Amino acid sequence: MNPYSHLMRKHPCFSGEAHIKYGRIHLPVSPACNIQCRYCRRGCNKWEQRPGVSRGILTPEEAVSLVERALELCPEITVVGIAGPGDTLATEHALETFRLIHQQYPHLINCLSTNGLRLEEKVEQAAQAGVATITVTMNAVDPIIAVQIYEEVSIDGKREQGEAATAHLIRAQLAGIASAARLGLAVKVNIVLIPGINDSHIGDIARAAADAGATNVNIIPLIPQHQLLSVGAPNCHELQAAREAAEACLPVFRHCRHCRADACGIPGKGKDLSELLYDRPMETF
Ligand code: SF4
Ligand code: SF4
Repeated sequence: MNPYSHLMRKHPCFSGEAHIKYGRIHLPVSPACNIQCRYCRRGCNKWEQRPGVSRGILTPEEAVSLVERALELCPEITVVGIAGPGDTLATEHALETFRLIHQQYPHLINCLSTNGLRLEEKVEQAAQAGVATITVTMNAVDPIIAVQIYEEVSIDGKREQGEAATAHLIRAQLAGIASAARLGLAVKVNIVLIPGINDSHIGDIARAAADAGATNVNIIPLIPQHQLLSVGAPNCHELQAAREAAEACLPVFRHCRHCRADACGIPGKGKDLSELLYDRPMETF
C-alpha cells in the first residue's frame, strides 16, 4: 500500500480525483529567491494567471487570518500551500507561517514548494512546522543542460554561475528530496518542460527523482518569458511525450493549472476565489 495514499486522497495537486473535490489556498509570503531561473519573471498584479505572481506579500500573521476567511469561502480546502512568489526556503517567512497555521489548523495539510536549494538544511524544521507534502521544481540533473535553465545560484551568500553552480543545485535538490522522503514526507517533483533544452532529458530527471525517493512528478509546460522568451511553449505532442518518458519511473500528475502564488479554491472546479478573498487592501488583513 502507498504510504502517502491518505495525503494523496485529500491533496488536489497530488491526485486527479482530489483535484476536482478538494481545495487549496496559496499564501504569498515568500518575497525573495536564492537562484535565478532563465524563464522566471516574478510579478505583483491581479491579472496574470501564472506562478510567480501575486497581489502582494503577506506577513505570516496576515496569512493566518486569510486562511480563516478562505475556509469560510471554501470549506473544501484541505491544503495550505506556499509557492512563492519567491522561494519558500530563501527566507524564514514560509516556515514561520506554517508553524502558525499548524498550531491553529492542525487538520490542514501544509504543502511547501521549493527549488530545493536549501531543502536538505531546512527539511526537519519544515516537518516540525507541520509540512507533510513538498514540491521540488527540478528541471535538469545534468549540470550542462542546467546551465541553459539557471542563470545563477546563491552559494554561501555569493551568486555563482556556470556548471559548478548548477551541479551544486542539482546535488542539493536530490539530497533534499532524499531527506524529505526519509522523514516520511510526500515529494512531488515539478519539471518545467523547455523545448530544445530539457525535452529529451525528462526520463533522466524522473529516474533520479524516483531514486531519491520522490512520490510523483508533474510536467509543467514552459511559459516563455524573461531570457527564454524566444523559446516556444511545448505543444500537446511534446507534453505527452514528456509525460510518457516520466511515467516510466514515477506516477504523473496531469492536472496542473499554472496557478498564481495567491490562488484559492478547488483547482479543478469552478472559479478561483482569490478575487473574493482579497476584496480589501492586503495591509488590512
Ligand atoms: Fe523564479 Fe522559482 Fe526560479 Fe526562484 S526558483 S527564479 S522564484 S521560478
Ligand atoms: Fe496544483 Fe499545479 Fe496549481 Fe500548484 S500550480 S496548486 S500543482 S494545480
